[in-house]
Amino acid sequence: MSNRTLTATELKQANSLLAETRLRLQDLSGGDPELLFAFRRKIYKELTYDERGKPTERAKLKAVKHALQGGRCAECGDEMPLRYSELDRKRAADGYSPENTELVHASCHQTRQALKNYA
Ligand SMILES: [Zn+2]
Repeated sequence: MSNRTLTATELKQANSLLAETRLRLQDLSGGDPELLFAFRRKIYKELTYDERGKPTERAKLKAVKHALQGGRCAECGDEMPLRYSELDRKRAADGYSPENTELVHASCHQTRQALKNYA
């Protein structure tokens, strides 16, 4: 299933919020480029966590899925080292949960994503 996209109106709202946020960051940093970098990085990191969860949570989920799948890729069925595996969400908006993810080889993940983008 493809991800929800924004309507034209929603896209304008998102771009407006982004412009406001950039201005606010500029203001907050008072012209200090190092401080602007640090503020921007903090906001970026926290928004990424909102969407993807924290890295430690994803690492725990990967270990659980690896055990549940018997150490095999959900795409090709071949053996898969945990270290080189990736979580693939069935529906991105539903986040990272055991029910909404499959563990796959990084290369199998790329193939899946390419197919989704061309579907
Ligand atoms: Zn695979």
